[in-house]
Amino acid sequence: MYKYLVFLEQREGVVKNASIELWNTLQQLAAVREDITVCGVLAGTVDLHQLYDSLAGKGVVYHASDQGFTLYNSERYARLAGDIFKREACSALFFADTILSRELAPKLSIRLKAAMLSGFPLFDATGVDSGTLRPVYSGSAMASFHFDCPLRIYTISSVPILSGTSSRGHIDFIPLQRLFSDTEEEFYPLLRRMTMREGRQDVTEAGIIISGGRGVGGADGFVLLEQLALLLGGVVGASRPTVDEGWRPQSEQIGQTGKTVNPAFYFACGISGSVQHLAGIASSAVVVAINNDCHAPIFDIADYGIVGDLRLVLPELLCTLQDFLKKQ
Ligand SMILES: Cc1cc2nc3c(=O)[nH]c(=O)nc-3n(C[C@H](O)[C@H](O)[C@H](O)COP(=O)(O)OP(=O)(O)OC[C@H]3O[C@@H](n4cnc5c(N)ncnc54)[C@H](O)[C@@H]3O)c2cc1C
Repeated sequence: MYKYLVFLEQREGVVKNASIELWNTLQQLAAVREDITVCGVLAGTVDLHQLYDSLAGKGVVYHASDQGFTLYNSERYARLAGDIFKREACSALFFADTILSRELAPKLSIRLKAAMLSGFPLFDATGVDSGTLRPVYSGSAMASFHFDCPLRIYTISSVPILSGTSSRGHIDFIPLQRLFSDTEEEFYPLLRRMTMREGRQDVTEAGIIISGGRGVGGADGFVLLEQLALLLGGVVGASRPTVDEGWRPQSEQIGQTGKTVNPAFYFACGISGSVQHLAGIASSAVVVAINNDCHAPIFDIADYGIVGDLRLVLPELLCTLQDFLKKQ
């Protein structure tokens, strides 16, 4: 019997889509394999009705809604997830691959004496107990991992697109009250708030990303990308040089040393397509590249390519899309 614990990560009261997709994928697996059950742990105040509607399958979600859990605190969150993991006698703990989990998972791996695999795409959840494949060297090779240790922790970078609808059973939210006393606060001074600018969606959560590279030419050049993102309901992403130059914030950097994204549409504007950048966008469903160099490597992986100066192409694209959307 395998019991999987899913960490449902919230930010500012909203559970991340990546965590919900992870839960739903594992529930689908549990529906076909009778030896698997799934439970969850959630820290912070969220709209439970809304969450209930988006979760498939059945099981129990332990919910710590104390004020002390509203903001991320690695010590508290680790204690919470670790205690539930032990109490439920789980065999694996799953996180969506986020900045938070990259800090929390190694901590828990040491505490729980569990093997840890980070940034792992869940190609096929059925194989998760025996061993897994993970891209290495910026996606140019696949490594096969097998575990000796019975307990595992995964941070999952992407899940397969679900086919069909998952059956819906009952999900119980079990409130955990007053896990830590007020006096304990002083032992946890490292209270950190991870906020996004003006409540913008994080690139890891976005369905549409308009990303800019050095070819954008400067911070001002990103105005066109912002407009396109606004029109399409997407967010702006960035290559590393644009962040190093201070044109964009680090939170938008995509790639090997930035974030891994998996949008439905990824627009690469003035991005050459280095292996380090491609490492972060491999799971994008459709890639559209705009570049004035027809030999740029980005065109090797793009589904659609426009060869041209983005300062001319983007205004044209904006006008065409505005006209198109007006007629809808
Ligand atoms: C260890 C390590 C980690 C790294 N991690 C990352 C990472 O996480 N993310 C990342 O992005 N990079 C990363 N890099 C850097 C990476 O190697 C590349 O240098 C970087 O991705 C290039 O960024 P770029 O495509 O924006 O710039 P460039 O490679 O300079 O490409 C600019 C492109 O814009 C095009 N262009 C220029 N003007 C225009 C125009 N007017 N219209 C249209 N197109 C135009 C050019 O033809 C060119 O193809 C890493 C490097 C190392 C060594």
